Amino acid sequence: MTHPFLDLAPLSAARFAEIEDRVARLLDTRQDVVIMQGEALLPLEGAIRGTAGPGNTALNVITGPYGQTFGNWLRDCGATVIDLSVPFHTAVTAEQVREAFAEHPEIDFVSLVHAEAATGNTNPVAEIGEVVREHGALFYLDAVASIGAEPVLPDAWGVDLCVIGAQKAMGGPAGVSAVSVSSRAWARMAANPRAPRRSYLSLLDWKERWVDGGRKALLHAPAQLEMLALEACVERIETVGLEAVMGRHRAAAEAARAGAPGVGLEPYVYEAREAAPVATTLRAPSGVVASELVARALERDPALPLAAGGGALAKEMIRVNHYGIDARVEVVEACLAALGGALAVVGG
Ligand SMILES: *Cc1c(COP(=O)(O)O)cnc(C)c1O
Repeated sequence: MTHPFLDLAPLSAARFAEIEDRVARLLDTRQDVVIMQGEALLPLEGAIRGTAGPGNTALNVITGPYGQTFGNWLRDCGATVIDLSVPFHTAVTAEQVREAFAEHPEIDFVSLVHAEAATGNTNPVAEIGEVVREHGALFYLDAVASIGAEPVLPDAWGVDLCVIGAQKAMGGPAGVSAVSVSSRAWARMAANPRAPRRSYLSLLDWKERWVDGGRKALLHAPAQLEMLALEACVERIETVGLEAVMGRHRAAAEAARAGAPGVGLEPYVYEAREAAPVATTLRAPSGVVASELVARALERDPALPLAAGGGALAKEMIRVNHYGIDARVEVVEACLAALGGALAVVGG
């Protein structure tokens, strides 16, 4: 009575290291890639707590809900935080980041979300990376929603801490994640007396006991199911080709933006170049509550990847989550048709 999910042999250290190398190739990086046994919030929090402390001044770019979370962690670490918030219908510009450095030359850490699945925008990381590098600050990037949907190139962009998760455009599991760490970031952590040590949040533990030891012995039992699922989803991307996977996401996003006006809805993000390929957000017409419209659309087909915006955005934002297996034009068309039908009822 064997079961496909059960009775698995333990995952060896060699296999674990091989999966890390595959993820490194996906990111086209020569930095150390550390896979972490938890949802992406684990390395996102671990990387901030490892590198930020009372002596630091952090520029925290807020283009969606995750930026707010990062700012709270940074403050909790004792860093001085300068928030740069932009409206969710747009992206931040490299010029805005440049201005922030001009006003606060003491900035030595920049946190940025690449693409925001929750608000549908994407930020110009390459251009921002140039500005960050000119000023020598450490560059932290949340690429959970961009990896697989658009290029993510930590080395080319000068990203010191690049966090990814498999559960969005990679079409993989939510229970493991990875972070690429530059030598500068390792040095900052080693010098930080408050960096987590002997802790589940600790990246330094992995550096000292795994990376520096030649990746021979794991710190604890690996989550086999998640690791196998991560390996399978990276393998699938390699087989199909990363370009093709990104192309599917781009085509789905273009279909969503192009088709929305036909059913009486407008894209939430004004400019197409600032719209994320991973998910498209739409604006509910005035007098229509987005969450009610989405609920009505889901009554027609509960399997559609539709959601309302989170928190206060539930009134005005509709999310079409066309990622992973849903990154297909047919799925987008079905979502728009259901929203159009619902609008005919709700919108009167
Ligand atoms: C989805 C996502 C995460 C992961 O968080 P969840 O709460 O599991 O969805 C982190 N950052 C960004 C930008 C995301 O889109």
